[in-house]
Amino acid sequence: MKAISVLGSTGSIGTQTLEIVQEFPEQFRVVALTAGRNLGLLVEQIQRHSPEVVALADESLLKELEERLASLPADQKPQRQPELVGGPGGLNIAASWDTADLVVTGIVGCAGLLPTLAAIQAGKDLALANKETLIAAGPVVLPELRKSGSRLLPADSEHSAIFQCLQGTPWADNARLSTGVPTPGLRRIQLTASGGAFRDWATADLEKATVADATSHPNWSMGRKITVDSASLMNKGLEVIEAHYLFGLDYDHIEIVIHPQSIIHSMIELADSSVLAQLGWPDMKLPILYCMSWPSRLETPWRRLNLTEVGQLTFNKPDPAKYPCMELAYAAGRAGGTMPAVLNAANEEAVAQFLEERIHFLDIPDLIETACERHKSDRVDQPQLDDVLAVDQWARTAVREQVDRGTRRLPLTAMAA
Ligand code: NDP
Repeated sequence: MKAISVLGSTGSIGTQTLEIVQEFPEQFRVVALTAGRNLGLLVEQIQRHSPEVVALADESLLKELEERLASLPADQKPQRQPELVGGPGGLNIAASWDTADLVVTGIVGCAGLLPTLAAIQAGKDLALANKETLIAAGPVVLPELRKSGSRLLPADSEHSAIFQCLQGTPWADNARLSTGVPTPGLRRIQLTASGGAFRDWATADLEKATVADATSHPNWSMGRKITVDSASLMNKGLEVIEAHYLFGLDYDHIEIVIHPQSIIHSMIELADSSVLAQLGWPDMKLPILYCMSWPSRLETPWRRLNLTEVGQLTFNKPDPAKYPCMELAYAAGRAGGTMPAVLNAANEEAVAQFLEERIHFLDIPDLIETACERHKSDRVDQPQLDDVLAVDQWARTAVREQVDRGTRRLPLTAMAA
């Protein structure tokens, strides 16, 4: 039985991971959970899974969690009383918990960086959903992986597709796949993108995009931040950088293809010109399960793909004028060093400001571009962890200050008033 730690257990990735654990009780058990602030759901998860340790990012809620668990009726108490820890130190304790075999990283944003590093330094294998960590700190994370021998299994559906395709190649060296060393024989990666909430919108209509519009994804059900990233195609841009760090390919050989049906989850081209793809319904449970069962595969009763039901698989090139975030991500990835960390932090802050309706959707790329431009002369080529943390804070502050000074457009709510 594999012991699983779930970081970000109350989120979209976290809850789907726990559903898998429930579905395969002979295969998996939960030893650690972490959450941000959602105490109601966390208490239910503790009751159901009886973890050994639970960490709350918001330390001020720890006492309330303790009280809620203590006040449960005897017949609803978890089988064991978990150790409760809080704050950044608590997250690190849970992430490096001794009995865990695999750590699923479902924390959103760069907040996942330190717990991810703690898990790696403790030699744990990781199912990486929290892409922001690798994007901000690839040059820090990859050497730590090589040192500790931890394996980074991609849970992001596109990178899982690539990883799954690579298993069948003569060059598949599973230990190497997860450390960013170039994969021999891998010529090109094609990342598929649904096109997000605005794929059928004309570019000019984006002027009218609201928060409600940007947070309704046509194919995938995900957390709010990644859903906005999908609408701007920043998610795909971040995935390009993620693919670069995971599979060691240069940016000229990582392409984005719009594939509205989200059935092909990505493709690889090999040295002999053969193209391999992984297909399935758009459901994150499959790539998460693959990380959990790798290198085996478990039999599931899940809905099987029927291509005659899908009918058509279509593909087109993304329009850079409609999706400026995509180009910004390529540019930051090519610049390397601390630039992807600035891109990521500026995007996290801009998306948060958009979700609070303080800026317009089209301000997001402007704010990111300004932060990246300003960082050019300060970019550190071979960053250490402190460099990454410092630029992350700088970029967030830079975006907030610019929003306070005023952006080019008004948020839609302000225009309506
Ligand atoms: P959600 O917003 O649904 O969940 C985020 C989780 O992180 C919650 O458990 C939340 O806790 C916790 N959290 C939030 N802020 C902090 C913090 N400062 N410190 C510690 N924990 C925190 O996000 P998703 O599940 O959608 O995404 C998680 C990651 O997975 C992201 O990096 C995303 O890019 C990636 N991903 C997600 C996919 C999906 O289908 N959702 C697909 C591919 C990748 P709480 O709610 O208790 O406050």
